[in-house]
Amino acid sequence: MNIACFRHTCATCGYGFNAPALSDFQYGAFIMCSDSGLHDAFLDAFDDKIWNEVDDLIQKNKPLLREKFWEVFALTCDLAPDGTKFEIGLRKCPRCRSTSLSRETDNTGISLDVPAITHNAWCKLTAEQKRSRILK
Ligand SMILES: [Zn+2]
Repeated sequence: MNIACFRHTCATCGYGFNAPALSDFQYGAFIMCSDSGLHDAFLDAFDDKIWNEVDDLIQKNKPLLREKFWEVFALTCDLAPDGTKFEIGLRKCPRCRSTSLSRETDNTGISLDVPAITHNAWCKLTAEQKRSRILK
């Protein structure tokens, strides 16, 4: 998925960098950012098969977890290439990992091909392993 990049500046260390961001009008679409701040993955909630699986598991087993849907969903995602976890909507500075970032409103004219989030490790788990991973 080709996504427009915006200039971000870190309020903590002053580092400036380009990173992809979606417009507010792309319903059901999200960018997941790695905990290191170095990797992005694209999520289309309508197209992601695991999304419904997580929703079902929560509904049938522990409806209260619904409030933490994003956290639970993140547990089903493969790790970023640098071994850190993907989270939804929390971009971190790639230099100091601060989340105090400002973003310019005009896009940079640069776009980046952001890979779709994958769930390969999750798909290899048994039903019981899946339940114990997310329902703890
Ligand atoms: Zn920083």
